Amino acid sequence: MNAGATKCGFIALIGAPNAGKSTLLNALVGAKVAIVSPKVQTTRARLTGIAVEGSSQLIFVDTPGIFTPKRRLEKAMVEDAWTGASDADLVVLLVDARRPIKADDDDTQRIVDGLKSNRRRAILAINKVDAVKRPDLLALADRMNAEQLEDGTPLFTDVFMISALTGDGVADLGGHLAETLPSGPWLYPEDQIATAPWRYLAAEVTREKLFINLHQELPYQLTVETEDWEERKDGSVKISQVVYVTRANHKGIVLGKKGALVKKVGEAARHDLEAQMERRVHLFIFVKVRENWLDDPERYKEMGLDFPK
Ligand code: GDP
Ligand code: MG
Repeated sequence: MNAGATKCGFIALIGAPNAGKSTLLNALVGAKVAIVSPKVQTTRARLTGIAVEGSSQLIFVDTPGIFTPKRRLEKAMVEDAWTGASDADLVVLLVDARRPIKADDDDTQRIVDGLKSNRRRAILAINKVDAVKRPDLLALADRMNAEQLEDGTPLFTDVFMISALTGDGVADLGGHLAETLPSGPWLYPEDQIATAPWRYLAAEVTREKLFINLHQELPYQLTVETEDWEERKDGSVKISQVVYVTRANHKGIVLGKKGALVKKVGEAARHDLEAQMERRVHLFIFVKVRENWLDDPERYKEMGLDFPK
């Protein structure tokens, strides 16, 4: 395509934990590239998903939720999200319509303040409109529309009401982003939808199933890495993964009674991987105790994160 006629750029999706960023990324790309769970902090590192709209190539950057981090992993995640925002051509702030914004101690408010202090205008997407009543929606929109930069310029260039889950309003948002991106040549081949290697995406799929099946602190105390990837002559692939946990009793919980839980997780992950890769998958999951993995720079590197000092 003639580069003069095309548009291309990076669009960061930012927001509080659980606003629906990863769900929106998948809806915009039209394929599942990011893992999603009802638990907060499912996304740990920036993840790219690519969509084409007419002559525009939209490179979406899904980010970890922004909140006040306490632990080292949380700190790395939040820093990674802000890096995503500052590197992008456009920023979309996603807000969960179900959660009223509190005047003090509110993740969304802190993000708004962060955008203001960086003089970074954004597009507002009020998400989960399927789950709220209209008056609440309008009150939230009014509240957000009042946000301004120091010189009185409105913080938000545009406001969209969407449901990432049902797809309501998502095409409008996508169309607007496609229009607004700067002119330039496409950076990726037309059919590419993700930039992370399959080894990484496969580990993420397993982590999603662990997040869905495990509770309380355990999901936050584990990480998944693909250790081995073996292409087979029959076209299938053998994937070996390690789940690192911090304690021996966590290993017992992840394995489950007679290995029932890890088996369930493995079957669900294999099912998704086969659908995504359109090939047969043999998935082997090993659980290892590594007490200090949360303080191990190598593990952060595997997750795609910088190690905070
Ligand atoms: P993230 O932390 O911002 O990436 O949020 P996720 O995409 O992981 O979504 C968090 C939860 O919100 C999941 O349970 C999603 O199914 C749910 N969710 C996302 N978008 C919508 C929406 O438009 N409507 C409703 N009702 N739920 C949503
Ligand atoms: Mg996410």
